[in-house]
Amino acid sequence: MKKLISIVVPCYNEEEVLGKFYDEVVRVAREMAEVNFEFVFVDDGSSDSTLAKLEGLAEQDERVRFVSFSRNFGKEGALLAGLEYAKGDYVATMDVDLQDPPSLLPEMYATIQEGYDCVGTRRVNRDGEPPIRSFFARIFYKLINKMSKIEMVDGARDYRLMTRQMVDAIIAMREYNRYSKGLFSFVGFKTKWIEFRHVDRAAGETHWSFWKLFVYAIEGICAFSTVPLVIAAVLGLLFCFIAFVMIVVIIVKTLVFGDAASGWPSLICVVLMMGGLQLLALGVIGQYLAKTYLETKRRPVYIVRMTDEDLRRKDKKS
Ligand code: UDP
Ligand code: MG
Repeated sequence: MKKLISIVVPCYNEEEVLGKFYDEVVRVAREMAEVNFEFVFVDDGSSDSTLAKLEGLAEQDERVRFVSFSRNFGKEGALLAGLEYAKGDYVATMDVDLQDPPSLLPEMYATIQEGYDCVGTRRVNRDGEPPIRSFFARIFYKLINKMSKIEMVDGARDYRLMTRQMVDAIIAMREYNRYSKGLFSFVGFKTKWIEFRHVDRAAGETHWSFWKLFVYAIEGICAFSTVPLVIAAVLGLLFCFIAFVMIVVIIVKTLVFGDAASGWPSLICVVLMMGGLQLLALGVIGQYLAKTYLETKRRPVYIVRMTDEDLRRKDKKS
């Protein structure tokens, strides 16, 4: 029996590259005659003609399956849906913009045959990216790797090939705040990294602004580390200690030298700093509380509006 590889692809307003992506993967799939392929496209509530294009592909190629969301739920939701719908013995996740070169697939498949559970890819350079963004990305990876027990590989892409066993482990994690890079690493298993050089988007535009990335980074840290809470507590303790020492010093000073009412500016500085620190600590706690709040609601990560099965059923009836 030939093994089946599922290609899971989140798509959000990707009408421009969808066709190119499909052609490219089909070309690579033809070279890999030893396996069967299926596509699992996830239309993440696109407002352009992405869904129509997917329907077209599904009609002409029975290997193409798709799931279409009722609105935009974000890439993390799309990835989960894709993994859940995929039937393959192996599952690959990749972006539709051809920044994850499909030509790596044969090498990835060969590697996983050597006894790995997962083959991940990482970019070794960050060309075509604003320098300031690369700078913050580096800081983020340094920070999160210090703060979390989970290892996050710098430059790792969401382009990987996994065994069924690993996919099932990921699906079993039902959390609402999904930070996939962390989840992949959390489940463990033997992962081999393949390196490649950065490729520019084939067409269309990135969906990530600097601000969105910043918020995403904070989410990543909150999802996989509670160190910020410890830092808040330690800072609080430290300042209590300093205050205690100062009180002693001031009492002694007043008793010895009498009270001259000076030192107003420094007082304001201390007040401002303490106020700032308290707000910061509250903010940190608030972040975690908010996550817990969302998590306890147990809302679905995505809602499906239609799938290729709906389409195929309709075709049969008419
Ligand atoms: N994507 C998605 N939902 C979103 C945003 C993005 O499914 O809300 C998909 C998008 O279609 C693409 C992938 O996630 O296949 C990566 O997006 P993009 O290329 O914009 O990110 P970048 O490569 O710039 O990090
Ligand atoms: Mg991209």
